[in-house]
Amino acid sequence: MNKPLLGNVSFTKGVRRFLYAVTPKEASFAKLDDVPDYLNEAVPFFFGAIALEYILAFLTRLPPARLNDAFSSIAAGTLSQLSKIIILSAELALYVFIYDNFNLITLPWDYPGTWYFCFIGVDFIYYWFHRAAHEINIMWAAHQVHHSSEDYNFTTALRQSVVQNYTSAIFYMPLALVVPPSIFFVHSQFNMLYQFWIHTEIVRSLGPLEYILNTPSHHRVHHGRNPYCIDKNYGGTLIIWDRIFGTFQAETDEEIAYGLVHPLASWDPIWTQLCHFCHIWKTFWETPGLKDKLAVLFKGPGWTPGKPRLGDPADLPEIEYPIQRYDSSLSYWGNVYVLVHFAVTIVAYQLLIARRMLMSQLHVLGVISYFLFTISSVGALFDNKWYAPYMELFRCLLFLIVDLVLSSQNLDTGVLPTAYIDVIRGIFIASAFLWIIGSLVSKSKLKIQ
Ligand SMILES: [Zn+2]
Ligand SMILES: [Zn+2]
Repeated sequence: MNKPLLGNVSFTKGVRRFLYAVTPKEASFAKLDDVPDYLNEAVPFFFGAIALEYILAFLTRLPPARLNDAFSSIAAGTLSQLSKIIILSAELALYVFIYDNFNLITLPWDYPGTWYFCFIGVDFIYYWFHRAAHEINIMWAAHQVHHSSEDYNFTTALRQSVVQNYTSAIFYMPLALVVPPSIFFVHSQFNMLYQFWIHTEIVRSLGPLEYILNTPSHHRVHHGRNPYCIDKNYGGTLIIWDRIFGTFQAETDEEIAYGLVHPLASWDPIWTQLCHFCHIWKTFWETPGLKDKLAVLFKGPGWTPGKPRLGDPADLPEIEYPIQRYDSSLSYWGNVYVLVHFAVTIVAYQLLIARRMLMSQLHVLGVISYFLFTISSVGALFDNKWYAPYMELFRCLLFLIVDLVLSSQNLDTGVLPTAYIDVIRGIFIASAFLWIIGSLVSKSKLKIQ
């Protein structure tokens, strides 16, 4: 059966889930299949929170989310979730395998002690996984995606790596020796959900809670590229691990510059995912000697031959004020265009997630390929690439042709709401015309010059 588009989660329940304010009774399940897809059920709440934060930022004169940056983050988040559809979530698959074959003792799934033990276990392991993701270059290649935004707001939380889904699995294996997969899956999702709302500048301090919880203030430091922020505050839900293992840093009065030490300067969602892997590949072959080659992979991203394992802090560039951010963007109407098309894409994404079980693998792959092309094309538009209008024209025409072929056979795409299909067709027809006229105008301009 098709799930409702906006899910079936009440407002208070949705908010409580963000805060990890759930009880073992309501979030313990016997079977893995019974565990709700908390992350996808939270999608309407993500967008609600993003809209609310945007308004509050405007009222409190904080820098509001930028469309180009928000697009990059949301595209990365959907990409990361979609990759789990094609290749079954590696974290879970490996976990179930270890549990089925090497399980030492089985903690009962309905015992609250199991639930709390797993909460602590997942958060403790997350700390070490996250620390490794910053201190080991090849893992950083995946994790840097999350840090590539130069803004800091709720959309930043959605900016997730595709590859990271497949590296975290190995860290959680020890838990699989004792904790049933269903309980692990509950906590691995809540650990991610909790980290959504801490990506904001609006909440300044949570008072005494700052001692135990990972808070917006602590996580802002984690996202800073100021020298004092580097390699600090790795906690997921709790900050106690940083306090115990010596990586804690409280926020200071120094204005935080967010993002990477070497900024990416691109809105291309695919390049964001791949750039550091390309960089490592290049450095690996340029570095002489096997020992140093291996060090390129397994020491810190700031390491170079002769330097300490995590690089020399003195090499970190000081922040120049006022803080400069990469900001190639579109005209007002360009932004409206992207918003409309991105809204259609997100609705299609939600329907794909809800209906994927009813669709053939080829069908799912087709939809995902179109999604990839869409986000690349929009990224190229934001980056003001010369070929972006042609990409968009091709994308709109492709949509219309596929739609025509499908409807001539009384089929539909499966991922567009039938009630609005005519509106969506209208959007694509108008867009295709826009790009045709646009390219004619720019050609005649060239002739005049
Ligand atoms: Zn990080
Ligand atoms: Zn973060």
